[in-house]
Formats: sequence, C-alpha cells, structure tokens
Amino acid sequence: MKTKIVFGLMAGLAMLFNACSESATDVVDEEILASEEVKSSEVTVLLGDSCDFSAELSDAEIEGLLLMREEEKFAHDVYVTFYEVYGIPVFNNISKGETAHTSAMLHLIEGFGLEDPYVEGIGNYSNPAFTELFAQLTEQGSAGLVEALKVGAFIEEYDIADLEELIESTEDATIKRVYGNLLRGSTFHMKAFTAVLNSMGESYTPTVISQEEYDEILEGNVNDDDGDSNGTFVPGTGECNGTGPNA
Ligand code: ZN
Ligand code: ZN
Repeated sequence: MKTKIVFGLMAGLAMLFNACSESATDVVDEEILASEEVKSSEVTVLLGDSCDFSAELSDAEIEGLLLMREEEKFAHDVYVTFYEVYGIPVFNNISKGETAHTSAMLHLIEGFGLEDPYVEGIGNYSNPAFTELFAQLTEQGSAGLVEALKVGAFIEEYDIADLEELIESTEDATIKRVYGNLLRGSTFHMKAFTAVLNSMGESYTPTVISQEEYDEILEGNVNDDDGDSNGTFVPGTGECNGTGPNA
C-alpha cells in the first residue's frame, strides 16, 4: 500500500507496532517520535507491505530469526557502550537504528509465534556467542576512538555477511524483505563508520566481507554518512534520490 509507505516516513517508530496491520491511521505517539527523532528508514521496513506469517518455518529459518534478534541488540549494546565512553554522535545515531532493527526482528518472532530470546540489559544475551563477542569487542574498542570506530565497521560487516547468508537461505517473502532492509541499514552504518574514520585520517580494511564488496558499498549512491540512515533514501521503493557525488 503506497499510502502506508508515505505515512511511514512520518510515523516511523510508532508504526512499527502496527506494522502489517491495516491501522495506518492509528494515532502516532508524538513523544516517541520526538525522543527518537525517528529518521530510520529501517523502521519503515515493515510498513511497505503486509506481513505474512503463515509459512511453516524450517529450523534453520527459526534459528536465523533468533540469531538476528540478538545480533541487532548486540550491535546496539556495543554502540551505546562506546557512546558513553566517546560521546560522538555516530554511535548514538546508529544505536537507534539498531533499536529499530531489534524491534523489527521481534515483530517477526512474534508474528511467527516463536519464543523471544531477548535478555534485558547491556551485554546480556541468550546466545553465549554474543556475550563473549560483546566482552571482546568492547575491550578492543576501549583502546581509543579509532579502535571503537573500527569495531563498529567490523560489526556492520558481520551483520552484512550474516544477513546475506540468511536472505539466501529462506524463501519466505516477509523474512526476506525485513532482512533486506536490515541489510540496507547495515550498509548505511558501515559507510558512516568509515566516513568518520576517514575524517580522522584513518582507513578501514574489511575482514568479513571482501574488499570488493566493501568498496561497492562505499561507492553506493546513498548519500547518508551521518549514521542516522534517513538521508535521501526513500523507504519502500528501494530507490535513492541522493544528491551526493555518486548519486
Ligand atoms: Zn542493524
Ligand atoms: Zn548497524
């Protein structure tokens, strides 16, 4: 529904809770909008079409959903931690994007009637791999801002690789769409971390995805390096009307 897509631009986070419903005209929580400055195209990911939760999911698909729910929280937790230490906006902005991603995954988990693995508190997860990775990467990022930004870029690479794999391994259109939008969010985030590193005279070398893919992402025509992913991206269309150099 086109109207929903357009509405989503304004309604953002509030709409998340109504995603897939027909209630596009529900009252928007102004406070949420104001506090979060909902700019995240990521949130509107769910708004374009109606979600279909009728599929019988495979174990692998279920595992994927549970994994991404925690992987997005993990990214959020690391960025929040770095924001507290370094206070630069990029971590704050991107952590909000991750909140939206985590919520998007919850929406799928609930839609498919799965048990939510979410554990309250920064650095806490059901999946021990994230508990360990959180300790490791926050330690690494405590060495200085440059290291922290590199950790950020690394996490986004990690997300990109996982999401690409998960998209390949499901046929479910609803899941694919949400993953696809989280993936797009991750590319924005990786660009943002890279841009800040570059502005400090530092560069980043990818270790999870290929240099080729990394370069392609950086050369993408989405002009949005400030980390909030609002930019010139038009949610729901998959198109960009960027005014940047590569647009
Ligand atoms: Zn994310
Ligand atoms: Zn991200």
